[in-house]
Amino acid sequence: AAKAVSSGTVRVFEAPLLERAQARLELESHLRGAVARSELVVEYQPILDLRTGEVASMEALVRWHHPAWGVVPPDRFIPAAESTGTIVGIGEWVLRRACYDAVSVNRDRVRPLSVTVNVSVRQAQDAGFAQTVQRALTDSGLPPGRLVLEVTESLVMDSSPTAAATIAELQRLGVRLSIDDFGAGHSSLARVRALPVRELKIDGELVRQLSDAASSRPIVTAIIAMGRALDLAVIAEGVEEEDQLDALRELGCDMVQGYLLARPAPLAAIARDRRLPPLAVLDVEGTAIQRL
Ligand code: C2E
Ligand code: MG
Ligand code: MG
Ligand code: MG
Repeated sequence: AAKAVSSGTVRVFEAPLLERAQARLELESHLRGAVARSELVVEYQPILDLRTGEVASMEALVRWHHPAWGVVPPDRFIPAAESTGTIVGIGEWVLRRACYDAVSVNRDRVRPLSVTVNVSVRQAQDAGFAQTVQRALTDSGLPPGRLVLEVTESLVMDSSPTAAATIAELQRLGVRLSIDDFGAGHSSLARVRALPVRELKIDGELVRQLSDAASSRPIVTAIIAMGRALDLAVIAEGVEEEDQLDALRELGCDMVQGYLLARPAPLAAIARDRRLPPLAVLDVEGTAIQRL
């Protein structure tokens, strides 16, 4: 606690507040050069398609390896990056990294997988965002249909002309949009239906509550039914327990992601996952022969 100061008890609360503000400023100033200093790394978590048993995509999750503080998880710095605007540069770096990594992991794969990238509302509201996406696709050579952009419910509910133009442009590019953390916020069904969204990702908290006494099962059932009615793929994230996986299978959930299946890990670790689509066998000319 702060030391008492002579001018009155109210000031007792000022020092911790000030410390927090200073810590935040320090974090923000360190973060500004993090991309240039190569301190950011991307890990990937596989998304398993329950219908095929194969990894359908991998979600890019950024980590900050600070030289003194160690690994800083995204929940600790993404909010600061959003409020200062550094998220625009960080997000572009993650997007490009993810596209190049997806191309490399797909080399010679019989059925290529997709890569899933989180987009914060601040990035999507930036007028140059669609162009940034286009450039990342062109430069890396990743087909647009292999890129899934996860947007949040706040973007879904943003009816500003900039957000609408960005979403329309992304649709024209042919990238897939997914709504992250679905069920945690307050998207209206009408908005979801009106948007060119291809998937819904059930919030991990709802998935965890499948095991609780007061089960979230009715809500998860409703989301999966809604996904089916609107022709959207439904993905459950945060799957940690067998009984959650069993319930999701039973309810007809399309895809799952969570510690039970795999933790986020560097690309090299993902590339060894036996559930990835098989590699093609090459003939002497180097032409891929489909593996039977
Ligand atoms: P998210 O997009 O909802 O990602 C899912 C989070 O749940 C990840 O946390 C992941 O590591 C974690 N997770 C996966 N499986 C399990 C599980 O079985 N149990 C539990 N308890 N957690 C699980 P992470 O990597 O710490 O990321 C947190 C959030 O930070 C992400 O939530 C996303 O909103 C944001 N984020 C991460 N990378 C980026 C990025 O490149 N750009 C932006 N804008 N946001 C990002
Ligand atoms: Mg996500
Ligand atoms: Mg999520
Ligand atoms: Mg989340």
